[in-house]
Amino acid sequence: MPASSRRTLSKPLSSAGCGLAAAKITPDAKSALIVVDVQNGFVTGGCLPVKGGEEVVPVINQLAAGFQNIVVTQDWHTPGHVSFASSHQGKKPFETTQLSYGTQVLWPDHCVQGTEDASLHKDLHLPTAQLIIRKGFHKEIDSYSAFDEADHKTSTGLAGYLKARGIETLYVTGLATDFCVAWTAMDGCKAGFEVYVIEDATRAIDMNGSLAAAWKQMIAKGVKRIQSGDLA
Ligand SMILES: [Zn+2]
Repeated sequence: MPASSRRTLSKPLSSAGCGLAAAKITPDAKSALIVVDVQNGFVTGGCLPVKGGEEVVPVINQLAAGFQNIVVTQDWHTPGHVSFASSHQGKKPFETTQLSYGTQVLWPDHCVQGTEDASLHKDLHLPTAQLIIRKGFHKEIDSYSAFDEADHKTSTGLAGYLKARGIETLYVTGLATDFCVAWTAMDGCKAGFEVYVIEDATRAIDMNGSLAAAWKQMIAKGVKRIQSGDLA
């Protein structure tokens, strides 16, 4: 059990006396809600829509009420970014290419700095959010993760910020489960945080089995899979 989260009995033992009641997790001062890339570009009508992406908004808004600390991330690409298929002659979106740091999935142009597509979803209501971390702003490096860019060397500075704030436990939500959420969660574990992904507060792209593969990798790296109803 993490030192940083308290578990409380959510309901009394049933009169049938059939065992332990379910425990709920209560976020505390050392917990942070991480809201990944809930931007116009990733919901219906955006340049790179995730199926049902907008459905995470009410779930995240409800979760947010229970958190003292919230960090929001925002995909924030230059025009002509290396992750765009349009930047590679003869390539189409969702194909891959080899870059200096490894295999890169090529995407439609999306979340270009300062555009409406890059804006946070208008219905997000996160009054206690304290930091917006923008990522993917180096033209030659993509960044699914909110911690380390895709070269696995360039840091966004997020781990340092969270540690300086005394945060120990992360609850990751947002878009998309199998890319930016998964990479953020796994890098969070690598950086020494206890990491939960709140599954029903995420939606996936799920391309060629990527969602199942992402969960397998996340669980192997120590990420815990929970639902919004598991939080008190
Ligand atoms: Zn991107």
